[in-house]
Amino acid sequence: MYLTAAGKTLSPYEAPNDLSKGPNLMRPISAVLFDRDHTLTVDDPPYNGDPELVRPYPGAREAVARVKAAGLPVGVVTNQAGIGLGRLTVDQVEAVNARVDALLGPFDTWQYCPHAPVDECSCRKPAPGLVLRAADALGVPVPEVVVIGDTVMDVGAADAAGAIGIFVVTDRTLDSDLRRCPLVAQNIGEAVSWVLAQRQGDAA
Ligand SMILES: [Mg+2]
Ligand SMILES: [Zn+2]
Repeated sequence: MYLTAAGKTLSPYEAPNDLSKGPNLMRPISAVLFDRDHTLTVDDPPYNGDPELVRPYPGAREAVARVKAAGLPVGVVTNQAGIGLGRLTVDQVEAVNARVDALLGPFDTWQYCPHAPVDECSCRKPAPGLVLRAADALGVPVPEVVVIGDTVMDVGAADAAGAIGIFVVTDRTLDSDLRRCPLVAQNIGEAVSWVLAQRQGDAA
């Protein structure tokens, strides 16, 4: 049985990768990267350029704090196509990032993609660029990096980079998303609990 945030019940076959079942990857974890919009913060309004409108996603602040308390470096990897689309300025995005950093961080690295989809850059998730840059900035091996996000693009970026992607269920999650992601958490707190359990080597 698998209940999404939207209240839909999926069969075990449809959700084989429930993180609460505690799969053990048997590899060290050296850093955790978070998506920004709708993972760390509520993505409303979309293309927000006003730091005053930043609201932490429920549970996100506590989840990040637990990772930091465990001594793991944390980072943010975020697509900000609003810049490339002419809907946001770099200054607006960086002001919002600074607000998120103040409310939920501080984070050890920030990596954002300013490009529009049409640019076909190497950093817009699901391309691996942001994850690779963050790992480099933190000085950790890419295979030991976890990426936590609310979309298939976040998990795709982790996969493309060779990192570990965890999909977090939100009110926007589709059944088809769950089927495409190898690791699924009910919320950001569960994702972090799994990461910390892996690290202690005592995942069930
Ligand atoms: Mg997101
Ligand atoms: Zn880019």
